[in-house]
Amino acid sequence: MTVRKNSSSTMKLSWARYDLELCHTFTISGFSRKTTPIVLTKIEYDGLAGYGEASLPPYLGETQASVIEFLKKVDLSAFPDPGGLDEILEYVDGIAVNNTAAKASVDIALHDLAGKIDGLPWYKRYGLDRADVPDTTFTIGIDSDDVVREKTLEAMGRFNILKVKVGGPDDKRMIEAIRSVTCLPLAVDANQGWKDRLAALDTIYWMKDKGVVMVEQPMPKLDLDNISRLTEESPLPIFADESLQRLADIERLKGVFSGINIKLMKCTGMREAWRMRRVAEALGMKVMMGCMTETSCAISAASQLCSGMDFADLDGALLIANDCFDGARLQSGKIIANDLPGIGVLPNQKINFAY
Ligand code: MG
Repeated sequence: MTVRKNSSSTMKLSWARYDLELCHTFTISGFSRKTTPIVLTKIEYDGLAGYGEASLPPYLGETQASVIEFLKKVDLSAFPDPGGLDEILEYVDGIAVNNTAAKASVDIALHDLAGKIDGLPWYKRYGLDRADVPDTTFTIGIDSDDVVREKTLEAMGRFNILKVKVGGPDDKRMIEAIRSVTCLPLAVDANQGWKDRLAALDTIYWMKDKGVVMVEQPMPKLDLDNISRLTEESPLPIFADESLQRLADIERLKGVFSGINIKLMKCTGMREAWRMRRVAEALGMKVMMGCMTETSCAISAASQLCSGMDFADLDGALLIANDCFDGARLQSGKIIANDLPGIGVLPNQKINFAY
């Protein structure tokens, strides 16, 4: 990487609390909510600013307070410039255990900044074609038939694949409600909601006949014996989400799942996500890029590294009413990065960053 020489600049990290308003109350197996708290980050250096984000769905355990407490411990003054990305992010990862979303907010901002210094978007640095991303799924939460049909109709003409949250009281009814208005392919995510392997297998066969193409986290995350047998018997690929956090988890999941769902907020950001992708592919596993409810900041970061993956679930920014960034956009059913350097984002309103 080329870093401007003779700069007396130092990196300055700042942050802002923000609350995402969801367009619809969102229900998955076990949880329901209308807002998602996030923390936005900014790292300034030599007249440039990189932006990042920590998205904090309540069930994952991090809060705005815990993220800010973490960010206060991040001392970038020991690093002369953003060029030593690996070294800086190793240091950040070592500050505390867990705090993966907080770490991702620093990782994303640093990637954005480093890309801006080089004048290159990250998909180019990864050697990817930004248009070669998989169609993004659009998520339909567990709801009444009427709401499910209404949400499905909203998605028509904009998306080429839908993702249905199952693991509720009546999964087949949900699928039938969607099938009453569209024949688009469906991905399903049980969020650990199925408890019996044979019943799950039976449902998966039924779903395959209904045009379902993949299944995410069918059973409880630690029930790897049953998941492994289910994967072996399933006519559809089975992806790990809750069973997997970071790079170190992948190897033990080979043979247990067909593929993995990589999310920046779980794995500490782009640096580790890229490594996870390469390791999974080397192990012969399928790969998908997922997200939380996020602004176009974190979604744009994810869009930089998902070209050529098997699936993309990057609808997070489309589910919120107050996205404060412009970045990757929905085009013909795909979330495609723009050509701007870094992660390709610009705030679309004034954000009050504080130190
Ligand atoms: Mg999932």
